[in-house]
Amino acid sequence: MKLASPLAEVDDSLYIESLRCFRCGLCRTGCPVFEVQRSEDWNTRGRILLIRGLVLKDIPPSQLLVDRLFSCTLCKKCEELCPSKVNVTQLICEARSRLADNGAPLLSSYRKQRESILSLGTITGRPPSPLSKLLGDVGWLTQCRSTVFHVGCVASYSYPLIARLALETLARHISLGTMGTEKCCGGVLQTIGYSKEFEKYAEENARLFEEKEVEEIVVLCPMCYNVFKSEYPWNIRVLHTSQVYEELLDIGKLAFTRRLDATVAYHDPCHLGRYAKLYDSPRKVLENIPGVKLVELECSRELSSCCGGPVRSSYTWVRDHLSDKIVRLADEAGASYLATACPTCFHNLYSASMLSDLQVKVVIIDELVGFAAGLVGEIPLYKP
Ligand code: SF4
Ligand code: SF4
Repeated sequence: MKLASPLAEVDDSLYIESLRCFRCGLCRTGCPVFEVQRSEDWNTRGRILLIRGLVLKDIPPSQLLVDRLFSCTLCKKCEELCPSKVNVTQLICEARSRLADNGAPLLSSYRKQRESILSLGTITGRPPSPLSKLLGDVGWLTQCRSTVFHVGCVASYSYPLIARLALETLARHISLGTMGTEKCCGGVLQTIGYSKEFEKYAEENARLFEEKEVEEIVVLCPMCYNVFKSEYPWNIRVLHTSQVYEELLDIGKLAFTRRLDATVAYHDPCHLGRYAKLYDSPRKVLENIPGVKLVELECSRELSSCCGGPVRSSYTWVRDHLSDKIVRLADEAGASYLATACPTCFHNLYSASMLSDLQVKVVIIDELVGFAAGLVGEIPLYKP
């Protein structure tokens, strides 16, 4: 008897992509949220089944569905493990869009971020301030407009010392300016299901850069880096700070004059690693610092652990568990410093280290570079 397959007749791109999952379960070995929740509906495979249910209208756009789909950190680790190469992050973002289109209740933290980006141009709930106000006097910056430094919301509001140090280090070797008052890249809009709003926002933001005839942007935040590089409607060259440090070291412009006799473990941020495939630049920069012994965490490069940053507001316990694990891995690797290259990862790992009994100091590579280049006498800039 031939069984009828009503499902095969569903002409929906989301549904068709979901069919590529053949439920092998390999993603369970990598999904950070499953690692904490230990239940299939918090894992990649379970989420894909829920998405099918949403498309087939078997499952209503309920709070539970919102919860399971929004708890995904979009870390892409499952995509590295999936033998069927399911584009999980695209699938989840598209499903989030459908939920938003259906008027499903958005989690309050995301609702606030969306409102803040659309009305104020930052995710912080505060209007953008001139960078000179956030970072202190940056009068020493050149008025160069062709290359601008983009700080990003997290560093400019929460870790201005790091942003300022990165800027000062770079400004010694290259001509660069800032946008004066900068707006958020808007990437969060896309990840929470508002891609049309993101497109409009990006077009408006791109116009501001074009009016200033910007040709190149140096970015501190890996999420901004990906959004500017891959999602904005322009041809502006986008570089992450670690790439610029590497380039400056290669041509002999940046020199490290101070030693740091320490074992350093590097944590790959999802947006710099799996998204942008930038694994080597930060490592090369760290290895160039005299005295640094670079060690690898048990989970690194393509299989690095997510710090849980994207879900820190709504699923704080998930973030706490994941960030604590990375700090512990650094300790097990014998590191006295845990370095990362992302202000959001820094925020989460630093928070975890403050709650931990371990002695590992969390830093961002810009701090180590600034120290080795002689711009600051002491690190970390933010102490537990
Ligand atoms: S690894 Fe890929 S194919 Fe296997 S269950 Fe997970 S998403 Fe599906
Ligand atoms: S992207 Fe990350 S959090 Fe989301 S399902 Fe895949 S492994 Fe889990």
